Amino acid sequence: MAIAVLKKSILAQNDRAAEQTRQLLNRHNVVAFNIMGGAGCGKTTLLERVIPVLKRDLRVAVLEGDLATTKDATRIDALGVPVVQLLTEGGCHLTATLVNEGLKNLALDELDLLLIENVGNPICPANFDLGEHERIAVLSVTEGDDKPAKYPFLFKIADLVVITKMDLIEVTDFDAEKATTDIHVLDPEKKVIRVAAIKTGADEVAEWLLTRCRALARLA
Ligand code: MG
Ligand code: ZN
Repeated sequence: MAIAVLKKSILAQNDRAAEQTRQLLNRHNVVAFNIMGGAGCGKTTLLERVIPVLKRDLRVAVLEGDLATTKDATRIDALGVPVVQLLTEGGCHLTATLVNEGLKNLALDELDLLLIENVGNPICPANFDLGEHERIAVLSVTEGDDKPAKYPFLFKIADLVVITKMDLIEVTDFDAEKATTDIHVLDPEKKVIRVAAIKTGADEVAEWLLTRCRALARLA
């Protein structure tokens, strides 16, 4: 009983901070996406592929969530866009408060698009609103096609699901049709893009982001 009450209050506190962030981003006309998925599913690699495309039309910045190290931020920095590393020091998800702190290091008036890479974890990040406008769930073929059924919450709240490492599908027993069907059981309208991050598909994700960013910026 006490634990349930405590958890509720933590989530309520997080939701308040997230709402402040969303209002701040709206005031500055910045559209934010929260990118979630398990460790090693290819979130950073996907960013490395889409950012060079997005940079042609939008001013992009990245918040990089990790438990420790600045390894991923270093990879994003090499793309020539502003990046802030958010370290949870062992915490398994980003919180709205940490994102809020991170935003203090970015010039929001000089941005159109904010990409937030969450901590590698397909479970609890989905419970924590960060003040983003939309969510992207990333699933790699090496994780198994049972994940949408096993972690339905992440795939339910996502506005886009990206299936990565399609170039490895031959050496796995991943059934992309089964995974897509399970995603569509949760939401028949869910957009799913398949990507072989090293080779093909990333342009389609960049195009989706560009379209959504423009549509949401008009609404803000
Ligand atoms: Mg990463
Ligand atoms: Zn967590």
